[in-house]
Amino acid sequence: GAVPLVQAYAGHQFGGFSPQLGDGRALLLGEVIDRNGQRRDIQLKGSGPTPFSRSGDGRAALGPVLREYLIGEAMHALGIPTTRALAAVMTGESVYRENPLPGAVLTRVAASHIRVGTFELFAARGDHAKVRRLADYVIERHYRELQGHSTPYLALLASVCDRQAALIAKWMHVGFIHGVMNTDNMAISGETIDYGPCAFMDHYDPATVFSSIDRSGRYAYANQPKIAQWNLARLAETLLPLIDTDNDDAIGRASEVVTAFPEQYERYWLKGMRAKLGLVSEEDTDIDIATGFLTALQGKKLDFTLAFRYLADAALGQEERIRALFGDALAYDLWSDHWRSRLSRESVAPLVRAQAMRRVNPAFIPRNHRVEGALSAAVERADYAPFERLLNILALPFDDQPEFAAFTQPAPE
Ligand code: AMP
Ligand code: MG
Repeated sequence: GAVPLVQAYAGHQFGGFSPQLGDGRALLLGEVIDRNGQRRDIQLKGSGPTPFSRSGDGRAALGPVLREYLIGEAMHALGIPTTRALAAVMTGESVYRENPLPGAVLTRVAASHIRVGTFELFAARGDHAKVRRLADYVIERHYRELQGHSTPYLALLASVCDRQAALIAKWMHVGFIHGVMNTDNMAISGETIDYGPCAFMDHYDPATVFSSIDRSGRYAYANQPKIAQWNLARLAETLLPLIDTDNDDAIGRASEVVTAFPEQYERYWLKGMRAKLGLVSEEDTDIDIATGFLTALQGKKLDFTLAFRYLADAALGQEERIRALFGDALAYDLWSDHWRSRLSRESVAPLVRAQAMRRVNPAFIPRNHRVEGALSAAVERADYAPFERLLNILALPFDDQPEFAAFTQPAPE
C-alpha cells in the first residue's frame, strides 16, 4: 500500500542557487508512526535513477553508505538530533566512480526530508500558495505548538532558527563538522541530515575543514553558526509574502528574527560549554573561562575530545592525564587557576561534578582513522568485524569502556 515518491527541492550550494535539485538517488518509501506517535519518513538512498538524477547514476557506493550509518548512529548516541540508519544492504552491482566500487543502499529514517531548499523551490517559482501549503504542513508535522498562532509564519521562522541554534551548538560541543551545509542539506525539523564529507575535529583548530571540495573553508568548523544563519536568511526570504503583504514590513520583521540568531546560538553554546566545564551556576565571566580553555588547546594543537574528557578527572583532583596532554603544563596551570577558583564558588561534590562532566564530554567519537579502517576492511576485504565493533563502541560514547581505551586516542602522527 505504499506510494513511493521522490521529492523536488532547490538549494544554495556553496552560495550559488540551483533552482532544481531533488532526490537524485533517493526514494521515499513512505511514512510510519513510531511507538511514540511520531511520524517518520523511511527513505532509500542509492536505489537508482530518478527524474532528478540529471547526469548522476542514482547509486551509492558501500563506503559512503557505511560512513553515513556509522556517523549518524554515533551522533544519535551523543544526543544530537539526526536522521538514523535502519539498514545498509549491498546491491551486488558495481557503481563506477574513479574505480568500480561495490554498490549499496542505505535505508534511513528521518523526522521528515523537508529542507530549507524545499521552501526555496516554490519561492523561486513565485508560487507563494505552495510555500504557504508547505509551511502549514511543516507546522502541523513539526511545530504543532504554533497552530492557531496569530503570526504563524514569522513564528515558524523563529522556531526553525531556535532548533538550528540548538543543533549547531551541539555540533560545536563535540567538534562535528558537517562539511556541506548547503540549504538543501539543512532539515526544517532540526535534525542533522545528509552526511557527506563530514568528520570530527581532532586537535582544536577553528579553521578545520575536511571536505576536499570546500576549498575556501566556507563550511569550516568555526563558520558553521554563521552559515546556519545565512541559510536561515534564505528560508526567511521564501516566507516574506506570508509574513506581511507589505514587503518592507515583512523584511523588517523577518530580519529581526534572523538577526537574533547569533545571540540565540551563543546562549545554547554557552549553556553547553558550562556543562562541559562542570559549572552548574552562571557567572558573567564564564565565557572567558570557556574561550580561555579553547585558546590554550588551539595554541598547543591539543585533541579537543580528550582535553574535555580529562578535565573531568581534573575536577576530582586527578590531573595526571590532562597535564600529560598539555606536556609543559604552564598554559594549563594558568588557565586552571581561574577554573578552580570558579568551581570553588559552587557547592557541588567533586564526584558529582566529574560524573556530570563525563555525561557531556564523550570518551569516544568516530575518529577519522578508525572510521577509515572500518570502512576499508568492509569494502576491500568484506570484513565487517571492525565496523560492528566501532558501531558498538560508539553506541556508548560517555562510558569509559577500558578494554577499548585505544579507540579514545587520535591517530598517530
Ligand atoms: P548531496 O551533495 O549528497 O547533498 O547531493 C546534492 C544533489 O546531488 C542532490 O540533489 C542529490 O540527489 C544529487 N546526487 C548526488 N549523488 C548522486 C548520484 N550518484 N546520482 C544522482 N544524483 C546524485
Ligand atoms: Mg543533500
